[in-house]
Formats: sequence, structure tokens, C-alpha cells
Amino acid sequence: MSLNILFAGGARRWPDYRAPLEAALKAEGIDADLDTAFPPEAVDYIVYAPNDELTDFSPFVNAKAVMNLWAGVEDLAGNPTLTQPLTRMVDSGLREGMVQWVAGHVLRHHLGLDADIVNPAHEWKPRLPPLTRQRPVTILGLGQLGAACGQALAGLGFPVTGWSRSRKSLDGIDCLSGEDGLAEALHRAEIAVLLLPLTPDTRDLMDASRLALLPRGAVLLNPGRGPLIDDAALIAALDAGHLAHATLDTFREEPLPKAHPFWAHPRVTVTPHIASDTRPDTASEVIAENIRRSEAGEPLLYLVDKTAGY
Ligand code: NAP
Repeated sequence: MSLNILFAGGARRWPDYRAPLEAALKAEGIDADLDTAFPPEAVDYIVYAPNDELTDFSPFVNAKAVMNLWAGVEDLAGNPTLTQPLTRMVDSGLREGMVQWVAGHVLRHHLGLDADIVNPAHEWKPRLPPLTRQRPVTILGLGQLGAACGQALAGLGFPVTGWSRSRKSLDGIDCLSGEDGLAEALHRAEIAVLLLPLTPDTRDLMDASRLALLPRGAVLLNPGRGPLIDDAALIAALDAGHLAHATLDTFREEPLPKAHPFWAHPRVTVTPHIASDTRPDTASEVIAENIRRSEAGEPLLYLVDKTAGY
């Protein structure tokens, strides 16, 4: 019997996802109708990205899963109408993109590239280039993205410390956990990268007291989620010279309002939530595989723990 798969990822994305999803479903041998509208009770699976048009999942009484196209599920995990199993996106293209954004911005700060790029006085000032082995980097969050970024940086020679809820064992990364582990991870970090999900436990994690644990002159990168950081505390730490720079890709409010002090701050770089994005070709393969698994009675991959919030 043919399955009905609702694409509820927003009209803008439908042209990008339609052909890759159809191809991936076919490759998995799944007989399905894929469309942007069905009677709700006829829907078997929902491919979803947060949008204003669909926030009430209760009419989809026969839906076997909601499959989020994004890695972050903070807008969904607490939705009381979403009683169906929820999966999040783990996609090789998303991971590649994040590794490249993080490596690029870590190297920018490590090498002090800004001094050469912006040199209006045309000053010839040679300096001893630093080596990665002298620059400790800390990654908060050692999941799909954090672990890959940490291992890529370790491969470039950075001493990498990582922190996560459960203690990990990862080649190239000194893995810590717990409150003491967080203090130690921050204490070591000349460059700190936030790759935690936004949950009730991680909201405002980087408050004034945690920012103060970073060594003087540290750089903070946040491709995770904006509310992981207390904005006012970050600006105070930058103004006091405690932090040298913050490169921020995610914000409490997006798009970042024009009047927000981050835009004009000399020690802040804003990127418009482009650290990484789900890639329709690789993501479609993940979705098709999960539908095949579900139909075969196998456990879904990348199931969200709605209680933990990620
Ligand atoms: P993931 O695989 O779920 O990994 C999350 C990591 O955070 C895990 O190591 C987890 O610990 C840790 N963690 C969660 N809660 C914690 C807590 N209270 N204390 C300590 N550690 C905690 O997620 P992912 O795929 O790597 O993605 C991470 C986040 O990146 C996403 O949630 C999203 O917000 C963000 N993201 C941003 C972009 C962008 O373009 N800016 C793109 C994609 C994703 P355990 O391993 O012990 O569970």
C-alpha cells in the first residue's frame, strides 16, 4: 500500500527537496505519494521544518513519525500536540558544513588573520606565527557536530577539550562532563565553541560566572543556539577586555534586530545563522532510510528524547 508523506518544511524549500526525496524513497524501495497537502488523517509521515503553517500535530492521528529537517528541535520537543515519535536531522552534509565553519573561524582567531586583512596604514609588522599545538580549544557539546568539529581541530594539532552531559571517549579529545568538568573545560579554553542544543538545562549556560571562567583574552564561537549565552553578560565581558572576541552565528532573536548592540560591537562578528545547513540530497537519504526502518518495524534513527529536549 502506498504511503502518504507530507512535506511540511515550508513552501520555499519544497522545490529543493521534492526531487531528492522522491529519488531517495525510490532507492529505498518505498512506494509513496509525496506532497505538501493531504487530509490529515491520511498522512503516514511528516517531513518537517519549523514554520507558522503547521504547529498543531493533533489532526495527524495516523502519522507514524515527524521527521525534523533541522538538527535543533527546541521549537518542537515541548510541543504538547506532537505525540508522534520525533526524529531530528543527522546528515553528513550538515556535519561537513559545521566542521568547515568552525575550523575556519577557529583558524581566523588562532592566526590573527584580521591584522593582515584590515591594515589601512599598510604597516609591515612581521610576527612569529603561532602553532596550533599552543592553542587549547574547548568544544561544549560532543554530539554529532561537536565531536566531528573537535576531531577535525585535533587533526590540525589543536589540544582539544570537550564537555558533554554523559562522559565520552573520543580519539583526539580530552572528554569531560559534570559541573567540575565544565569549569575545567572553560578554564583551559583559549577558544571555546558552543555546539550544545537549546534545552531547559543549557539555556543561559554561558552566564557571567561561566564567562568569567574563560581565560583572559579568550574567544567564544557560538554556532549552537543564541540563548545558550546571556547577551548582556557577554557584552560586559567583551567591554571589560576579558574576552577578546565573540563570533556569533545564532541569536535569541533571528534575524538579529538592526539595533542589537552585537552588530556594532568592535569585538563581535555576526554571521546570519549560516554555520551549516541541512543538505537536501544527503538529508533525503536519511529520511528515506528512517521511513524504511519504521515500515520494517526497526527502531528509528536519531529519535529525540522529548524529556531531555534534544
Ligand atoms: P547532538 O548530537 O544531540 O549533540 C548534543 C551534545 O550536547 C551531546 O554531546 C550532549 O551530551 C550535549 N548536551 C546536551 N545537553 C547537555 C547538558 N545539559 N550538559 C552538557 N552537555 C549537554 O546535537 P548535534 O547534532 O551535535 O547539534 C548540536 C546543536 O547544534 C543543535 O542542537 C543545534 O542547536 C546546533 N546547530 C546549529 C546549526 C547552525 O547553522 N548554526 C546547524 C546545525 C545545528 P550527550 O552526548 O551526553 O547526550
